[in-house]
Amino acid sequence: MKIDGHCHCGRIAFEAEVDPAAVTICHCTDCQRLTGSAFRANVQALAAQFVLRSGMPKSYVKTAESGNRRRHAFCGDCGTPIYACAVDDPQSYSLRVGTITQRASFLPRRQIWRRSALSWVDVLGAVPASDKG
Ligand SMILES: [Zn+2]
Ligand SMILES: [Zn+2]
Repeated sequence: MKIDGHCHCGRIAFEAEVDPAAVTICHCTDCQRLTGSAFRANVQALAAQFVLRSGMPKSYVKTAESGNRRRHAFCGDCGTPIYACAVDDPQSYSLRVGTITQRASFLPRRQIWRRSALSWVDVLGAVPASDKG
């Protein structure tokens, strides 16, 4: 599926080809902190199928407990997370689902790092809700 996306201020824009049924939800504590939220939703794009249309993201290289290093790209103006990739010669990009225009038609395929998932993520349906803020 052909998709496009951009950061909140619009300076960074991209296009890619992704499998809309292959979203991964990550509950790791790094994703919680880096998103400022409960979990992160990602979809993979092969490097050959990812094109940056405008802007140049800033990046932060995260070193995991395992020693593995990942480049986290974000908009230097509005702070929107855009993708993560290998530090050298990336073969794929882990796109942040919330930045993608077509995200409402995506489905998660798996959850990882469940051991640090916040206890309430599975019972959101029971939390009082309103259609707007
Ligand atoms: Zn921006
Ligand atoms: Zn994570």
